[in-house]
Amino acid sequence: MPSIHDTGRTDLHLIFPPQWSPFQPFLSTPSLKAYLEPKGHRVIQSDWNVGFYHYFIGRERLALAQRRLKHYVSVLSDEHAAYRGRAVYALAQLERYSELSRRVSKLKASRTCLHISEFKESVDAFNALLNAFSTAEPVIDVGTSSLAHPGVLSSFKALHHFIDNSNDNPFVDYFEQKLKNVRPPRFFGVSIIGGEQVVAGLTLCRVLKRTFPDVPIVIGGSVLSRLVEKDKWLRELFGTYFDFVCRYEGEQPMDAFLSSNDPKRDKTPNLAYIEDGGELVMSPLCEPLGMDDIPTPDYSDLAFAEYLSPHLVLPLLTTRGCYWGKCAFCYHGMIYQDRYRMRSAEMVARDVLRLHEQYGVRHFAFNDEALPPRLFKRLPQVIPPNRFFFTALYKFEKIFTPAVFREM
Ligand code: SF4
Repeated sequence: MPSIHDTGRTDLHLIFPPQWSPFQPFLSTPSLKAYLEPKGHRVIQSDWNVGFYHYFIGRERLALAQRRLKHYVSVLSDEHAAYRGRAVYALAQLERYSELSRRVSKLKASRTCLHISEFKESVDAFNALLNAFSTAEPVIDVGTSSLAHPGVLSSFKALHHFIDNSNDNPFVDYFEQKLKNVRPPRFFGVSIIGGEQVVAGLTLCRVLKRTFPDVPIVIGGSVLSRLVEKDKWLRELFGTYFDFVCRYEGEQPMDAFLSSNDPKRDKTPNLAYIEDGGELVMSPLCEPLGMDDIPTPDYSDLAFAEYLSPHLVLPLLTTRGCYWGKCAFCYHGMIYQDRYRMRSAEMVARDVLRLHEQYGVRHFAFNDEALPPRLFKRLPQVIPPNRFFFTALYKFEKIFTPAVFREM
C-alpha cells in the first residue's frame, strides 16, 4: 500500500472512461475533487470519454478502418449481405472523411446552434463517422449515447477475451497512448456511473494494471456499488482489474481512504475488497453528507475545448435521491442509501455564480432524476435573471436532436 507520507506525488488520479456523452462533462469526479482537495489530498481528474470520440473517428485510424471495410466487402458471403452492404456504405462515407470531419468540428461553433439546418448537418456528419468507424470494428458499435458490444458481457470468459484482445478492442490502444503521459499516483480511481462504461472501464483497469502494477485501483460510481452487493460473483474481478470498490457516495469514504496508510486495517467505510484469505469484505456504510455540505463541483483539469458543444454546459445536481421515490421498478435511491436530500436554492445559486466566475459558463444542466417543484419555484428568486440558461436534460444532443436525426 503506498504511504500517505510520499511527497510530491498525486494522491488520486481520477479517470472517467467511455462511454458517456461527448457533449458536456459529467459530475462524478468533479464532485469528488471538490471535496477531497480542501482536505489536503492532491487529486487530478481526466475525461477519457470525450477524448475517445476524437480518437475513434480520428484521421490516424482512417486507413485501418478503410482496410478492414474493404476486407469485409471482399470476404463476406451472401449470408452476410446486410453487413457487406453496411461496409460498402461505410466506405462511401469515409471517402468524404475531410468534409464530414469539418462539419463535426462545427458542432463547437456558436453560430451552428443558431441555425437548425447547420446543426443537423453537423450532427448527421458526426453520426455518419461514428457509424462508418463502428462498421469497421469487429465487435463494438459507438453512438453518441450508446456503446454496443454484443456478447462481451455474456460470460467472464467472453469479457476477459475481449478486454485482452487489442485487435478487437480499440480501448486498449487508446488507453495505452493516454498512459504514456501519466505519472503514477498513489491510487487510480475509475468512475463507472453508467452500464455503458463497464467494458471500457474494465479495459482501462487492465491497461492500468499492466502499466502501473504497483498502483492500487479504486472503482467508484453506481454500477459496481450496486453489483458488488447483489452479485458476489464479482469477486472474480478483484485483483485482475481493481483492488477496491468504493460503494455509494464517495466523498467521505475517499477522504478516509486517502488519509489512511492501511484502509483495511482502519476499517475505511463504504469499501468492498478481498481479504487475504479470499473473503469478500464490505465495510460498514457511513452517514451520507447533507446536501449543503457538498462543495460546488470542481471542473478544473478538464479540457473544455474537447466537448462537442457550441457552448460549455456544466452539470449540477440539486438533489441526491428522488423526492417522489414511489416507482416500484426504480432502484435509483439505492445509490444514495435511500436518503433523499435537497440542496437549498441559495446554495444552488451560489454554485451557478461560482462556476460562472471560474469558467465564464452560462449554460447549466440539472442532472437530477426528478426535479423538486419546491426548489424550482424558489430558484428564480435567488438566481440573477436573464444571465443563465438551464436545461434538465443531461444528454445535450437530446435537446437539439430529434431521434430521427440520430438515425442513419
Ligand atoms: S427517480 Fe424517477 S423512476 Fe425513480 S422513483 Fe423517482 S420519479 Fe420514479
